[in-house]
Amino acid sequence: MSDQYAVIGSPIGHTKSPLIHGLFAQETRQDMSYTAIEGPLEPQDAFAATVRAFIAAGGKGMNVTAPFKLKAFAMADERSERAELAGAANALSFKDGRIIAENFDGVGLLRDIEVNLNLPMSGKRVLILGAGGAVHGALLPFLAARPAELVVVNRDVAKVKALAAQVVAGGALLACGYGDLEAMGQFDLVVNATSASLTGDLPPVPPGVFSPAGAAYELAYGKRLTPFLRLARNAGVRTIADGVGMLVEQAAEAFAWWRGVRPETRPVIDRLTVPLD
Ligand code: NDP
Repeated sequence: MSDQYAVIGSPIGHTKSPLIHGLFAQETRQDMSYTAIEGPLEPQDAFAATVRAFIAAGGKGMNVTAPFKLKAFAMADERSERAELAGAANALSFKDGRIIAENFDGVGLLRDIEVNLNLPMSGKRVLILGAGGAVHGALLPFLAARPAELVVVNRDVAKVKALAAQVVAGGALLACGYGDLEAMGQFDLVVNATSASLTGDLPPVPPGVFSPAGAAYELAYGKRLTPFLRLARNAGVRTIADGVGMLVEQAAEAFAWWRGVRPETRPVIDRLTVPLD
């Protein structure tokens, strides 16, 4: 029987993961199957029971998406440093009766920015909007890329300050509120890691943070020109992108972790890209 993998989430109908991993498996000639599982929201322990049933049936690994990333983290026997900081897992590996938790959201985002978009972060002023799960996963990889400054803002300022306090980062990391941005000038890269775009909303970011020679990155994908990307474009920003590349890159990281072979991501990104305009 092929090695079995799955993505678990709720709702899971929209997931692109089986398509992405199917294309990776085809390209790297891996004998594996990859399905989507609608995870149970109730009762409290039903998620863990579903994961354990998958393991008992021979499952080798899982991707985990909303709203189960915290539960997946909590049930793991071992956790990577990235997963620890995120307090969340987006990938699990099942080995020798143990559950190992990883979080590839941040490295996937970084790789899309630095490699696919050719925007090295070293020495740059970088602004991240939001302090949710995605930002928890992104902080360590972003800091490792050595930006001159990494500013993280959130509506709930206490939340973003608490997150920054967990990270030992020297002077490069600053957490604050949107109101502080007016005085901070332009950033080379502005990343919208809020969920505002999912409801067609715009985070209260002043247009003055954008640099025309810089870039704006939207984590949501397939939504064309979101209010955030429109604001960036109107501010004259040259490079704008959505999160489809992040989606594919984090999948490639999980695939390489499970199978020991790194798939080509470019053809898969091209296949899934919805033009912004
Ligand atoms: P969370 O629910 O964990 O966090 C949401 C964040 O958005 C919070 O910081 C919240 O602020 C902020 N927020 C929500 N609405 C607004 C608003 N109107 N104005 C300003 N801030 C707002 O979400 P995630 O971190 O899991 O996901 C964030 C985004 O990233 C989503 O769009 C998601 O789809 C996308 N994503 C994309 C991935 C990819 O592969 N491309 C992977 C993972 C996520 P507050 O705390 O003040 O409420």
